[in-house]
Amino acid sequence: METNVNTVDYAKKKDQEDHLAKYRDEFYIGDKIYLDGNSLGLLSKRAEHTLMNVFNAWKEFGIDGWMKGDHPWFYMSEQLGEKMAPLVGASPSEVIVTGSTTINIHQLVATFYKPTKTRYKILADDATFPSDIYALKSQIQMKGYEPAEALVRVKSNAGLLDEKDIIDQMSDDIALIFLPSVLYRSGQILNMEKVTKGAHKRGILIGFDLCHSIGAIPHSLDAWDVDFAVWCNYKHINGGPGAVAGLYVNQKHFGQEPGLAGWFSSRKDVQFDMSHDLEADVNAGAYEIGTPHVLSMAPLLGSLELFNEVGIENIRKKSLELTDYFIELIDLNLKQYDFSIASPLEKDKRGAHILLEHVHAASICKALKSHQIIPDFRAPNFIRLGPVALYNSFYDIWKTVDTLKNIMKTEEYKKFNNTRDIIA
Ligand SMILES: *Cc1c(COP(=O)(O)O)cnc(C)c1O
Repeated sequence: METNVNTVDYAKKKDQEDHLAKYRDEFYIGDKIYLDGNSLGLLSKRAEHTLMNVFNAWKEFGIDGWMKGDHPWFYMSEQLGEKMAPLVGASPSEVIVTGSTTINIHQLVATFYKPTKTRYKILADDATFPSDIYALKSQIQMKGYEPAEALVRVKSNAGLLDEKDIIDQMSDDIALIFLPSVLYRSGQILNMEKVTKGAHKRGILIGFDLCHSIGAIPHSLDAWDVDFAVWCNYKHINGGPGAVAGLYVNQKHFGQEPGLAGWFSSRKDVQFDMSHDLEADVNAGAYEIGTPHVLSMAPLLGSLELFNEVGIENIRKKSLELTDYFIELIDLNLKQYDFSIASPLEKDKRGAHILLEHVHAASICKALKSHQIIPDFRAPNFIRLGPVALYNSFYDIWKTVDTLKNIMKTEEYKKFNNTRDIIA
């Protein structure tokens, strides 16, 4: 007999059949149901191990840690770039682990945004993360233009963007396009290949922010011919709070002088000649700036081992099964309590998280947390639920929906006020 999808037995059966289930033990989860890996991924034992390894190299070698130990610091950004290349569909020399997302946006926009009298605008969207917009505005200002006029934002509709609207706004005065791969609220995946084709047809360079897709969905940046990309490594990549970020530059652009130069932009073999004339590297390393934050890179060595072992296709497959299951259970159990799903339902448009809308979203999130279930809240009335393929189970999903149902049925959420905490 088929087990009813709404029962805990069904969830347990799915967990038994799950080929990735064994990876859960690789993480420090505690007794929580953690659904916030899309904001800050959890610590894995492998990441802890490589962090301690690098930490001990400092203890043991002092300055010589730059060239000694299991992971010499001088080459760590390149080494990690190589490990990340399969996740973005690039060759190793096109990827470097450096900076932060926001710094890398500044770096690559400073490099690729070359406004002229007739082509001086940047095209973005109105649903993206604020830091991206702040960085674009300051880059526009630094080049002597007015953000109010030179920053064009494609309008979203109910948190979703339409690729056709984006392409329609690629006018002759657009010099550069910068868009998210997956929208941080709705979780919509943009069709990057289609948008890139549209941009190149009109002679416009295009870059993407992969913060919400890296480590969650496969990318083919080379095959799509994307010009550049940036991402953070503390969300789905589980690199730890403030983990060093990543960037991609298509090799057809190698040799472009970095917009923001520093001594780590240098060719590594001449860096210590200490010349005042920079000989920039001829790969993604050219877009490094200063000394890498070694201790904030070290966990990535272990974490990326997991990704390369499991493979991003398998991660995506399970992630879709988890969100499919979430959607199904929400439909069966929560519609009557006025929840609605604000994420795309189509698989090819759905990233790794589900956005739930409810007028009492803030109180409901607090009630969930009191039951050791960790979602995140996005103002004004959204609950973001991000199950992670490497450490969430089908039981986690079942338990979350069951708890939500009880919180609504007993009106327990009314015990919590419906306002946002400082960090949501
Ligand atoms: C998380 C996130 C950021 C954060 O940038 P940091 O420089 O790491 O603070 C920026 N943009 C997007 C789209 C994000 O999701």
